[in-house]
Amino acid sequence: MRNRTHQPLDLTVDREKGVLTIVWGDGHRSTYRLEWLRANCPCASCQDERRQAQADPLRLVNVLPSSQVASAELVGNYAIRFVWQDGHGSGIYAFSSLRASCPCPECNDGEPDRLLMGE
Ligand SMILES: [Zn+2]
Ligand SMILES: [Zn+2]
Repeated sequence: MRNRTHQPLDLTVDREKGVLTIVWGDGHRSTYRLEWLRANCPCASCQDERRQAQADPLRLVNVLPSSQVASAELVGNYAIRFVWQDGHGSGIYAFSSLRASCPCPECNDGEPDRLLMGE
């Protein structure tokens, strides 16, 4: 059984404001900056990039990825995948992780420094 609180009822990408808003099964509303989502892309190659950037801060200069969304699609009923304007699209954001990373004062009181693991 899936936890209904981790199922979105409504999911909106506002390109102008650069945010993703999710209304969850329990009525909770989460707003994520696309920039933050992109910066925390959970795919293997971005995780690798971030590790290397930590080791060598100068690399960061070359790692300014696009946070413009070209498209977004649901992956089964458990995740959302973004394709960014620069063509990158291998990051799959599990709803459980997004819910765990909600930046509202009730959940994390601000953006976590990475995408948190959900249940
Ligand atoms: Zn990535
Ligand atoms: Zn929240």
